[in-house]
Amino acid sequence: MLKLNLRETGTCPVCEGECSVTAIRSIWNSNTRGYVETATNVPCTNCGGQYMFGTPSGMSPLNKEGVPCKHSYTRPDVGYRSSTYSVTRCEHCNDKLTVDSGD
Ligand SMILES: [Zn+2]
Ligand SMILES: [Zn+2]
Repeated sequence: MLKLNLRETGTCPVCEGECSVTAIRSIWNSNTRGYVETATNVPCTNCGGQYMFGTPSGMSPLNKEGVPCKHSYTRPDVGYRSSTYSVTRCEHCNDKLTVDSGD
C-alpha cells in the first residue's frame, strides 16, 4: 500500500492523544448579568486542528530532536503570501501550515 506521508509520528504532546484540550472561555450568564469563566474542550491545534478543514488526529510528527513536535509556527513568510492565504512553517519540524489571511 502506498503511504504518502512517511514521516514518523508520536503521541501529540499538547493533547496527549486526546484530540482536544481544555480552554477557559468567558461565557455570558444572563442570570447574574456577567461573564463567567468556564472550562470547555476545544479541538487540539497541534495535531491537525490548526489546518484549514483539519481535524485533530492525536498524533504529531517527530521534530529534529526525534520527539513528537509541539509546533511553533513562524510568522508567515512574505514571499509565500498571496491575496487569500499565506504559508508558515513550524520552526522545530518544518511542518507547513497554510493560514487564511482573510483579506
Ligand atoms: Zn493534539
Ligand atoms: Zn512542529
